[in-house]
Amino acid sequence: MSQPLTGRVAVITGASSGIGEASAERLASLGARVIVMARRADRLADLVSRIEADGGSALAIAADVTDAAALQGAADRVEAEFGGADLLLNNAGVMLPAPIEELATEQWKHQIDLNITGLMNAIGAFTPQLVKAAAERGVADLINTSSIAAQNIFPTFAVYSGTKAYVSHLSRHLRVELGAKNVRVSAIEPGIVGTELQSHVTDQGARDWLAGSKETIEWLTPQDIAETVGFIATLPPRVNLQQVTIMPTAQA
Ligand code: NDP
Repeated sequence: MSQPLTGRVAVITGASSGIGEASAERLASLGARVIVMARRADRLADLVSRIEADGGSALAIAADVTDAAALQGAADRVEAEFGGADLLLNNAGVMLPAPIEELATEQWKHQIDLNITGLMNAIGAFTPQLVKAAAERGVADLINTSSIAAQNIFPTFAVYSGTKAYVSHLSRHLRVELGAKNVRVSAIEPGIVGTELQSHVTDQGARDWLAGSKETIEWLTPQDIAETVGFIATLPPRVNLQQVTIMPTAQA
């Protein structure tokens, strides 16, 4: 049976957990063939098995997105095996809040390397395929996972917020540049979503803030964001959802 995304080829980075994992399942359920990427190959293999058991099509490629050569190798494989991608969900990321005076320079670097350089590596590797697909079939999607942190002020989140402001602003620029070639560019800005993201936080003040938030607010689920990813991809080709902010109802 034909589904809305039948014939489409979607690459998802950060697909071994959280938003990326849920989005891969959603896009596959809508008929896309999905290529799931992250570093943890065992988690990707489990995801592929689940998608295939549900009747979908999936391929795992284990890669570190901060490694530009690995991303290019993945893109070459997608080109060879699928004829190229027409959707990239650029989603791998990390959040490590800490007061700036703690000078957690390794964590600053980690966030910038992954959230900015990793994002750009995926854009560099897959943009030619998106442009080619859009020229041939009239539509392709570049969906970047940003954050409400790109817009709002959260004390101690300055470096993370800076990386996500980069993602949102870059997305607005690329929408104009690539939209002329029928590639839709969207930035998704979630508020707080319950995933593994929070488990990497080491700063005690930020951990306490997150724990307090969890007690008072019903956090979003990864599936809430995945629904929106599916919605963006199934809109008519003339419709580009430029920027979507998705908040837990009770989050300020
Ligand atoms: P998770 O920690 O669950 O997912 C992060 C994903 O990124 C994992 O699949 C991880 O896989 C992957 N990843 C981490 N480092 C690398 C790397 N070097 N190379 C390749 N993949 C990597 O968190 P979320 O699902 O919450 O995060 C997804 C995106 O959503 C992030 O960009 C985050 O900033 C954003 N976001 C999240 C919010 C939230 O509250 N959860 C709110 C707003 C935005 P692996 O370790 O296997 O490589």
